[in-house]
Amino acid sequence: MKLCRFLASEKVHYGIIEGESVFEISDDPFSGSFAGSVKKSGQRALTDVKLLAPAAPSKIIAIGLNYKAHAAEFGKPLPEEPMIFMKPSTAVIGPDDQVIYPAHMSHRVDFEGELAVVIGRTAKEVSSRDARDYILGYTCANDVTARDLQGKDIQYTRAKGFDTFAPLGPCIATDIDPLDVTIQTWLNGDLRQNTSTKDMIFNVYELVSFVSHVMTLLPGDVISTGTPPGVGKMRPRDVVEVRIEGIGSLRNTIAEGKAFRKIWSHS
Ligand code: MG
Repeated sequence: MKLCRFLASEKVHYGIIEGESVFEISDDPFSGSFAGSVKKSGQRALTDVKLLAPAAPSKIIAIGLNYKAHAAEFGKPLPEEPMIFMKPSTAVIGPDDQVIYPAHMSHRVDFEGELAVVIGRTAKEVSSRDARDYILGYTCANDVTARDLQGKDIQYTRAKGFDTFAPLGPCIATDIDPLDVTIQTWLNGDLRQNTSTKDMIFNVYELVSFVSHVMTLLPGDVISTGTPPGVGKMRPRDVVEVRIEGIGSLRNTIAEGKAFRKIWSHS
């Protein structure tokens, strides 16, 4: 099943995508008691609705260096436990929304295509074995990163936290095997990342368990599970697309920040 959120007639709806159609559902997938058997109504063409980010997370936890080859790409040793950081909920955008290039602070903005876990039930101190019971499904994420600021700041908050730096979508696929799906990132039609999640250092169940031993995960929260090798920079007007087997394609364009954006200065 491919769950989505969409805007139609100025209202936000939950839905299911089937082929080129979207059906409305009345059940709330984030109620904590979502059974997975849903009543469909109101068929619309996908082209007639505006897909939103499929979840509205209270927090996004992201994982650094979770693919062996990506660690090698940055000359870093393999971590002994997951390295986590957070992206603010205000960074979330949906399919076809624009990533705003924060040129007032950064001159190097990268894409990082990632598999994202979407939590379905409140999870606190769950085991890796039980983790799947707390997962609603999986979506595509782009962990957009101001790489120059990541190097300059000790914390990742600024480099990873600008508004629009967390594209999510297009849907939450509930039935994929997260241990072996291919993630691809395309920049302006060129394939730049292409790796199976088999190459993860810590798999999604280990990550849910680990994070849930740090903080309570709420329905709708997202864990972005790290990026494979091949990250690279984006420029205004670029088109970036994260594609994951069984989920679909998350496509966003890069837009220049508005000319009247205030330049921060210390006074
Ligand atoms: Mg990342």
